[in-house]
Amino acid sequence: MTTANPFLNLDYEPALESLGDDYFDRVVAAEFPQHILRFRNDDVLQQIGLDPHQVSETDFIEAFGQFQAREPLLAQRYHGYQFGEYNPWLGDGRGFLYGQIRGVDNELYDFGTKGSGTTPHSRSADGRLTLKGGIREILASEALHHLGVRTSRCLSLIETGEALWRGDEPSPTRSSVMVRFSKSHIRFGTFERLYALKRPDLIQKLLNHVIEIYYPHLNNQTDKYRQFYTELVKRTAELAAQWMSVGFCHAVLNTDNMSITGESFDYGPYAFIETLDLNFTAAYFDYFKRYRYSNQPSMCKWNLEMLKRPLSAILSEEDMQESLDNFDQWYHSTYRQRMLQKLGLNGEQCDAIDTHTTDQLLTLTLSFLQKTQMGYHAFFAELRLQCNDLWRTDAGHILAESQLMAEYLAELGPWQQAYAKLLQHEENIETVQQRLQTYAPYTVITRPQIEAVWAPIAAEDNWQPFYELLKDLQNP
Ligand code: AMP
Ligand code: MG
Repeated sequence: MTTANPFLNLDYEPALESLGDDYFDRVVAAEFPQHILRFRNDDVLQQIGLDPHQVSETDFIEAFGQFQAREPLLAQRYHGYQFGEYNPWLGDGRGFLYGQIRGVDNELYDFGTKGSGTTPHSRSADGRLTLKGGIREILASEALHHLGVRTSRCLSLIETGEALWRGDEPSPTRSSVMVRFSKSHIRFGTFERLYALKRPDLIQKLLNHVIEIYYPHLNNQTDKYRQFYTELVKRTAELAAQWMSVGFCHAVLNTDNMSITGESFDYGPYAFIETLDLNFTAAYFDYFKRYRYSNQPSMCKWNLEMLKRPLSAILSEEDMQESLDNFDQWYHSTYRQRMLQKLGLNGEQCDAIDTHTTDQLLTLTLSFLQKTQMGYHAFFAELRLQCNDLWRTDAGHILAESQLMAEYLAELGPWQQAYAKLLQHEENIETVQQRLQTYAPYTVITRPQIEAVWAPIAAEDNWQPFYELLKDLQNP
């Protein structure tokens, strides 16, 4: 087929397909009654070498709403631990791998769908994505990406004109199909399934594939399997620390939602915390608070622990445990650096010069936020708003002009002292202000904010507030 549609002319690589039919099912996409492009990610287009001006709405709709002229479409097979229980009835139930493509950075990326119809893994569900669900995933991934969290992105969202019924949204509710752009959709659960099927040969083949494509620097190492697991532990620990510092609660850290590349993806009932409430739990169905905000690092570690079983076909238990034992240290050092950045500081320098004061500042900051339950994001945004050169010479000036902080100032003395001491080590206040600009966002998509952009869409198809919020998130 000759076509001018740039998406249909990309050089797709059959990476997953080349592994053979043990890993996926070939599926067809649903046909939808309507296609309205609601979101296109021009940033992602540039990442795959396309000029946004050369890509029309029709191109998006033909490729990612009608799924014209593209096959095979591969629904991946996987199992997973869901809320601690093993579930063999998983797999892509409302999505497929549309294609894999090199980015301008020469890395391989997936276009994966969500809401594109039923598959052999749908069970009794409809294979669809609600429009609100699509919007929520766009907001999460754009927000996280711009806050420096390793995450999938959304390439497109097309409204599809169906009426869906959901227990957690006023129904009927509108439908959509999304295309996700991510490093890989191979999950911990992809390996777990092969272990349950007692197929060490397929585990080895998949692991070789994962290393070859996503850990290419390990390819020629003699202990590449061990190094792979070590690096995955590290990447996952760093990811957990990134979530924690930005105040993100993923909500469903099941092993089918854990990527083998250590990237964050699949944003369902997630929420950003409003205050530093360690018990905050985002999913209403998480009855035992398993995936509460503060439990995310341990749950990531538990998931890595479970992954040892399938990998034991190839790697020794002792070697894996040795790597896993480093999880806490990697987590804490990344979290520490990120939190210091949120305070505008150069973490490595703080630690090198005065570890004691650095410890003190972090402890005081966290205990203050926890005790007062003042807005987590508001606190850092206030630092950003108020920060000035006097802070380096006189601790008493820190936040002294802030109305928001007025009621707390009396108890902040030791915190001000520690902060001023570390600020003095900074070369100038401008670098501090710059870090605050990057890491202390004014706009955070807490639940009320998401509801506030959804309401006008639902009531009068007014998309303006949503697009404005996106713009704010993309320029934090
Ligand atoms: P999630 O909680 O979104 O990670 O999904 C868990 C499992 O349920 C995956 O196997 C999904 O493919 C499947 N699933 C979720 N929603 C639907 C749906 N509406 N239709 C079919 N399968 C679904
Ligand atoms: Mg999932």
